[in-house]
Amino acid sequence: MTGMSEEAKHKCGVFGVWNDPDSAHLAYTALYAQQHRGQESAGIAVSDGKLLQAHVGMGLVPEVFSTRVLDRLSDSKAAIGHNRYSTTGSSVSDNAQPLLREYIGGQVAVGHNGNLINALVLRELYERRGHIFRTTTDTEVIIHLLASHHLSHTDPLVETLQHLQGAYSLVFLFNDRLEVVRDPWGWRPLVLGTTPNGAYCAASETVALDAIGAKFVREVEPGEIVTISDKGISSRRFAEPQQPAHCIFEHVYFANPSSKVFGETVQIVREKLGEKLAEESHVEADVVIPMPDSGRSAALGYARQSGIQFREGIVPNRYVGRTFIKPTQDQRNTAVQLKLNVVREVIDGNRIIVVDDSVVRGTTTRAKMEQLRRAGAKEIHLRISCPPIRNPCYFGIDFQDPAQLIATSRTVEQIADFLGVDSLHYLTLDGMLSCVKHPKDHYCASCFNGEYRLNVDNPVNKLDLERYQLKMFK
Ligand code: 5GP
Ligand code: MG
Repeated sequence: MTGMSEEAKHKCGVFGVWNDPDSAHLAYTALYAQQHRGQESAGIAVSDGKLLQAHVGMGLVPEVFSTRVLDRLSDSKAAIGHNRYSTTGSSVSDNAQPLLREYIGGQVAVGHNGNLINALVLRELYERRGHIFRTTTDTEVIIHLLASHHLSHTDPLVETLQHLQGAYSLVFLFNDRLEVVRDPWGWRPLVLGTTPNGAYCAASETVALDAIGAKFVREVEPGEIVTISDKGISSRRFAEPQQPAHCIFEHVYFANPSSKVFGETVQIVREKLGEKLAEESHVEADVVIPMPDSGRSAALGYARQSGIQFREGIVPNRYVGRTFIKPTQDQRNTAVQLKLNVVREVIDGNRIIVVDDSVVRGTTTRAKMEQLRRAGAKEIHLRISCPPIRNPCYFGIDFQDPAQLIATSRTVEQIADFLGVDSLHYLTLDGMLSCVKHPKDHYCASCFNGEYRLNVDNPVNKLDLERYQLKMFK
């Protein structure tokens, strides 16, 4: 039995490149640049034109890829790569991507960012038909569809994609081509570029293109397949584009500030969110303090708009990573103290406005507020640059079940109480959506407003495939 203890995680990054002699190293660098999109596992699959091979492993990109491993992969002309996200310690490598499989069409490797809400239905269907699954990821379902459509249809990939419901930015590596796919709703970002050698590449975020010295070409369109092969680049549609459902949380927290996501630079959007927040929630105070690192851009905007001076009052220790994945609350609190050091002179005796991007569980925020109080903060006014997160995400952000979200069952006052702050203001939904350039209904804000673009009456929850597998083995 494999993958039993593993939660299927979907908050990821992908990369692909075709016909570049430096493919493996480009993939490595691109994944490094997209490390923020996933820290649980990393993987690269390469092709020399005849054979695919892959290396995947648990941990950060530089932990997974030693020079020796990279050297082994470097004799290749094409590559795809994947970063995978986790918030828990329990993980196994069976679910690490890219998944590499042999099927009737040859070899294929796939990397997926997103989440399929009909994965369980599809898996059940294919298992009844005799298919054998080896992981508990929704991504494996895609390969089975591809294999079973291979002989009976003219365009197996189009046929496959038409069965998928949910969020997916995908890279497929075959021995003769790279296929890059974005779901019809454009839930997750996906962009095309050209490498310094003139090869085409694709990445979740433009920060990866910048890191490898690639030029941005354009976004992959929702509902589009881009094929890159020795014949060049071509494009076809597998679905009419739907009303877009760009994930607003990419702008709020997830994406790298230097990236251009959904046509806008994330840093600029975050500064606007901070300005809007200041307009909405004025309070007398002495300093504006960013919660590093994710709250910094919004804090900058807040300070600018309010005219209150911006000061760094909390300094991050850059060598402590991943507080979120510590298994117990005690360990998490210790990690927070180690990770964030308070500058007492900035805090002591002052009325402070603390700006952060979001509150999810509330546990790390509470620990940070305690630290500030101990350092002598006279008043703490917490300002959050998005609305309360009250609903689970089924489309690729790893929000825990509703019971773990602090805002699900509490009013803002109760949350302020729990966090121990003098006042708390969340940016309003309208305020948030006024800071991005597309029409409001072109974003998915379901974690805030509970309005889901697709029917989620029977969504695949993170553990469903595990539960399903358990049942099968009874
Ligand atoms: P909390 O107080 O909810 O435990 O933590 C809030 C902090 O978590 C914020 O500073 C925010 O930047 C960060 N955050 C928001 N969403 C996520 C996420 O999905 N994963 C991780 N690791 N941190 C997050
Ligand atoms: Mg943060």
